[in-house]
Amino acid sequence: MNFDIIIIGAGPGGIFSAYEMTQINPNLKVAVFEAGHALNKRCCPIDGDKIKTCIGCKSCSIMSGFGGAGAFSDGKYNITNDFGGTLYEHIGKKQALELMHYVDAINMRYGGAGTKLYSTSGTKLKKLCVQHDLHLLDASVRHLGTDINYVVLENLYDYLKSRVDFFFDTPVDSVTAISSGYEIKCGGNVYTCEKCVISVGRSGSKWMEKICEKLCIPTNSNRVDIGVRVELPAEVFSHLTDELYESKIVYCTKEYGDKVRTFCMNPRGAVVNENTNGIITVNGHSYEDVARQTENTNFALLVAKHFSEPFKDSNGYGESIARLSNMLGGGVIVQRFGDLIRGRRSTQSRINEAFITPTLKATPGDLSLVLPKRILDGIIEMIYALDKVAPGTANDDTLLYGVEVKFYNMEVAVNENLETCLKNLYVIGDGSGITHSLSHASASGVYVARKITADK
Ligand SMILES: Cc1cc2nc3c(=O)[nH]c(=O)nc-3n(C[C@H](O)[C@H](O)[C@H](O)COP(=O)(O)OP(=O)(O)OC[C@H]3O[C@@H](n4cnc5c(N)ncnc54)[C@H](O)[C@@H]3O)c2cc1C
Repeated sequence: MNFDIIIIGAGPGGIFSAYEMTQINPNLKVAVFEAGHALNKRCCPIDGDKIKTCIGCKSCSIMSGFGGAGAFSDGKYNITNDFGGTLYEHIGKKQALELMHYVDAINMRYGGAGTKLYSTSGTKLKKLCVQHDLHLLDASVRHLGTDINYVVLENLYDYLKSRVDFFFDTPVDSVTAISSGYEIKCGGNVYTCEKCVISVGRSGSKWMEKICEKLCIPTNSNRVDIGVRVELPAEVFSHLTDELYESKIVYCTKEYGDKVRTFCMNPRGAVVNENTNGIITVNGHSYEDVARQTENTNFALLVAKHFSEPFKDSNGYGESIARLSNMLGGGVIVQRFGDLIRGRRSTQSRINEAFITPTLKATPGDLSLVLPKRILDGIIEMIYALDKVAPGTANDDTLLYGVEVKFYNMEVAVNENLETCLKNLYVIGDGSGITHSLSHASASGVYVARKITADK
């Protein structure tokens, strides 16, 4: 065997798994294979000057490389079982929370000390929300910010690099079960290991599907979240963001009974493009460093779409809607709320005249030509509901960027050890479909590392 353990993917799941393995047994031979670049080589070519929009790099530096999709994220570690994944269904709520706190402590040791931990416990905002039929979910939120998150990753890499073999720019093509473990093929090279941990995140979703099919591992897929990113003056949400930083608010629409929720709130942040398998969608960032903050706050409003038999390709559905916006706008479309309500497209001059400056260069257009009516109606209803707890949300100048799609990996069937039906083959993080966040993905990595190394 070349290695005791091979980890595929160096996102938070893979990193925290490797970290915990080295802590428990420094003699283990562990390798991490990563399709993307090393952290210091990760750089998105969009400079806002020569390159204004996504050029579809072979390996997207935003989604891939050391740190995974989380590397340039806002670094919000939500410590909660209420959202961010269903890890607790496999390992229990208490243990899931303990592991998230454990990850938080590591982040603090590796450069995050001094960053703020926000909490919903005891907040009066919960009452305000419920009085308007909005439901604020419970969580503690560690906000590292994009800048400190990067420092933590640098420090974790410095610790790991002499203890673990990293193979960057090395996408794994296949995983094959052999009598003593697993054979991993990358290009022309073959590596073997006794145990294998797959942690390929969202960008590895298609690859994961293929591997599960080949290895006859059962999967299940039926959900996609579709919506818009809302951008408004930071003052509108400041009473919520100053106290909670991120508030996850859920609303059940009167018209259809659909759940609409706020997601990924970035106080004084910036709206950004996201490239998933060549499709341009929208996301958000914010910085801990005051000098890099903006005057706007952004967050997503998402409607969860669950499909039933016979339709199985929920991600394909989300991709088609995103493609439509790419077709009409050449990328992301932006529209003023007032224009949407009046049934007219936004134009560059209407955007220029608004009292808010967009933080992302997007094509002014009409989101009603892109989003299905039911989803758009739900978003509009939620904006009016939010206007009651944060007056100004439904202002004409509020910007809506579309589309934001939250793709869910199909859920891979794993047992309580996060092990598949194949012995010693584990699937963790967002690639498993069980987690959808930094804290849950990282916690799943620690959990499996402990399970694996217990018998070594
Ligand atoms: C812009 C942005 C902002 C976000 N902000 C937040 C936030 O503030 N808070 C939060 O909780 N979550 C956030 N998220 C989500 C969060 O980043 C993910 O939930 C988290 O990174 C999942 O970790 P992971 O290790 O499971 O997967 P990933 O981070 O996706 O890492 C998987 C890695 O596997 C690699 N890989 C894929 N296929 C292969 C292969 N075949 N061979 C080798 N390597 C492969 C990929 O290159 C990637 O680096 C954000 C995501 C984005 C894109």
